[in-house]
Amino acid sequence: MLRTAKEYIDSLRELKENLYLLGEKVDNWVDNPIIRPSINAVAMSYKLAHEPETRDLAVTKSMLTGKEVNRFNALYKSPEDMVKKVKLQKVLGQRTACCFQRCVGMDAINAVFSTTYEIDEKYGTEYHKRFRKWLEYAQENDICIQGAMTDTKGHRGVPPSKQADPDMFVHVVERRNDGIVIRGAKASQTGTVNSHEMLVMPTLNMREGDEDYSVSCAVPVDAPGVILIYGRQSCDTRKLEEGDIDVGNYNFGGQETLTIYDNVFVPWDRVFMCGEKEFAIMLVERFASYHRQSYGGCKAGIADVLIGATASMADYNGVRRAPHIREKIGEMIHLAQTVHACGLASAYEGWKTKAGNYQSDILISNVCKHNVTRFPYELTRLAEDIAGGILVTTPAEKDFKHPVIGKYVDKYLKGVPDVPTEDRYRMLTLIHAMSFGQIAPSYHTESMHGAGSPQAQKIMIDRETDMDLKQSLARSLAGVDEREDVLDSNSKGGWKKTTELDSDTWPRSK
Ligand code: SF4
Ligand code: FE
Repeated sequence: MLRTAKEYIDSLRELKENLYLLGEKVDNWVDNPIIRPSINAVAMSYKLAHEPETRDLAVTKSMLTGKEVNRFNALYKSPEDMVKKVKLQKVLGQRTACCFQRCVGMDAINAVFSTTYEIDEKYGTEYHKRFRKWLEYAQENDICIQGAMTDTKGHRGVPPSKQADPDMFVHVVERRNDGIVIRGAKASQTGTVNSHEMLVMPTLNMREGDEDYSVSCAVPVDAPGVILIYGRQSCDTRKLEEGDIDVGNYNFGGQETLTIYDNVFVPWDRVFMCGEKEFAIMLVERFASYHRQSYGGCKAGIADVLIGATASMADYNGVRRAPHIREKIGEMIHLAQTVHACGLASAYEGWKTKAGNYQSDILISNVCKHNVTRFPYELTRLAEDIAGGILVTTPAEKDFKHPVIGKYVDKYLKGVPDVPTEDRYRMLTLIHAMSFGQIAPSYHTESMHGAGSPQAQKIMIDRETDMDLKQSLARSLAGVDEREDVLDSNSKGGWKKTTELDSDTWPRSK
């Protein structure tokens, strides 16, 4: 089944979410003006599956059933599949200019699929079989899945089971014949309100004593005990005002929640890890790698919109041909393409897991995301530079349309004579929205912390780097170790000492 955007939005109306926004319980959240743009952004992932130009990117054959499914619910069957994922995310970034939320679930299902296979291999459990069944149901119904990883964490220097408050990480509080009961909370949860189900995963390496915290399971967003608290975004209440100019990106936006699991019951057939602590890190690293690759798609697409808006502002201000403006816009293109190239590269270097789906290259995925913790700041800095200080000083849309003072705003905020002031106004508020955060939840802060903060990537980059190889190469070429003899086919210098191109041991992260 490939749902249309309308069918997706209609299906949300059937959910009975326990949702709070700005201190109030929200019942008709589908039509709430603050929430609806984020629903529209997810709906675009359904729309593209029905457009001839994007169908090849948005639809693929299920590895489980062979049927056509939306790519957001699919396993990666090949490096090519991951390339298409990144290209699809770029198109979605271009069409929505915000976080379209559905990638977390896509990346989570792939990580849980391969990890459960390896848990079962070691322990003879049946997590993988259960997971395949649940995923078939998800594909068949084209539901929206949210990946739930980030725990609230409490004292960052203390492991889950040693926290003063045991609920700082989601954990099992009861094991019953028919299932488990979980308690805790997940913070900064992307797209939960707009999803049908959450795929819960641990958030970090688990050690002795952390068994109850090593839990993965599927939970409907409206299951009893689940409470969703909507995250604030800068300028979010502009969406409650009349008019569409001040919002900037009126139709689309991101969404995050604080998700509470207050003694939530999960039947066994929805439990995919329960106590196998040594596999928590495998799941975390594989998911993080996929999602850090994903940023090479979405952030590059969003950057394209920002570049277009910036170039338009330069046009409207009459400075488009100035050498320094061209140089700065060229720099923005360079930054966007570098991010995208990393996402693609980690797909091309992907490798097959034991379960049969493909994993993105862990080192390059982390490099991709690490660039994303920096480049969107530079992109927005350049956009703000070119747009000018008026970006943060424009009078309100109501002033612009005011019967008495409107004519002054119109007259004095005009740029080049042949462009209406309103066009300039709209482009300014779009850049404002992208820079200051009402649409993403903030292009740059989300880029900094989404899919893990910069230090998390630094740790992975360090772990995945074969430093022995690099040092051996240097020692051999410097003559500290034996130099390679180019006439002797057995002589490989430092390269031979540490590198094995045997498919069982390469890449190292396998
Ligand atoms: Fe997708 Fe990007 Fe949002 Fe993550 S931040 S869910 S990759 S759009
Ligand atoms: Fe994100």
